[in-house]
Amino acid sequence: MNHSTDTPRDLRSLNAEEAEDLLSGWGHKPYRAKQLLGWLYKRSAASIDAMSDLPQELREQLAAVFSLRPLELAREQCSLDGTVKFLWRLVDGELVESVLIPASIGRDGSQSDRRTLCVSSQVGCAYGCTFCASGLMGYKRNLDASEIVDQVLAVERWRLAKGVELPRREPLVNNIVMMGMGEPLANYDNLIRALEIFNSPWGLNIGARKITVSTSGLAPQIRRLAETPQQYHLAISLHGATDAVRRKIMPINRKYPLEELISACEAYQQAKGRMIWVEYILIDGVNTGSEQVEALSRLAKRLQCKVNLIPYNPVDGIELNRPSDGMVGRFRDALHHDGVRVTVRIEKGTDIDAACGQLRLKSEKIFTSAEALGQAG
Ligand code: SF4
Repeated sequence: MNHSTDTPRDLRSLNAEEAEDLLSGWGHKPYRAKQLLGWLYKRSAASIDAMSDLPQELREQLAAVFSLRPLELAREQCSLDGTVKFLWRLVDGELVESVLIPASIGRDGSQSDRRTLCVSSQVGCAYGCTFCASGLMGYKRNLDASEIVDQVLAVERWRLAKGVELPRREPLVNNIVMMGMGEPLANYDNLIRALEIFNSPWGLNIGARKITVSTSGLAPQIRRLAETPQQYHLAISLHGATDAVRRKIMPINRKYPLEELISACEAYQQAKGRMIWVEYILIDGVNTGSEQVEALSRLAKRLQCKVNLIPYNPVDGIELNRPSDGMVGRFRDALHHDGVRVTVRIEKGTDIDAACGQLRLKSEKIFTSAEALGQAG
């Protein structure tokens, strides 16, 4: 059974080893497992019945034990810059978001064919960061691995339904950031299974270097992730460069203060030999002072990381403000002057609710008022 609902386990959480064991246990030929995985992850079958080259007997055996329930598209918002925000309805009616960001310009200014999907890992979030729409709604539940994986597959189904053609018949999503709703490292086992499916040749075959896990700073799980063999990219949502400031806006800092977080990051870097990204949302009058520049500069040099500055995107119901462009520029220049590699995020989807959790919050209000009026579909 699926631990998050009372439904049978969804097939799209199966890995190659499990598929092989299962099918050989039922007496099927080894190549049937490969066929099944192909239907699940390459062809994104919408039902077990659609797997037309599997014997009827095998399809019945699968249907008796597993479910296969694609995410339902509840709402989509398309930005003028090509960013698309999806709101998915899960089997128990909960809603989560993914954001598709087509980058035509890379971080270094070169042309890029990177098409990133920002993927959610939980419904809501328990960590209560004061600036975040997902934190505002509180924690509801973990997504299981199939619900994480199907966000990418569902975008591919959406592309096919729209008739969007890509060169070399490649899939739409070729870069994944676990940066949507929820704290991915708080849903560790489901995350690791989903990453395995994203990364494996029998799965979505997306290189580990094109998969980023973003965390608010769960130090023990960063150390655990460091022990996995894959070279997943790590991004830290820092947002405060001293304990005093970070504690105010990110309660997680009380459990894992900066020193503990930074030393876990060092362990990750040592294990992987990979550069970490530090994300820093600039919130007017909260974390933009000169003492933050100095502390951030010290941390960035210690980690030899890149810093990505993100001017705060206001969220309904949260009384925090975006700093002026001048302030953002001065913050960036001060870091740059100190020798820190720093960029300001090129904003995408500013004409839609592009920050994580916003579309769900708004839709909840819309659905709730529709239900109150007896108009819900
Ligand atoms: S920023 Fe991340 S960890 Fe903090 S509340 Fe939002 S989703 Fe949770």
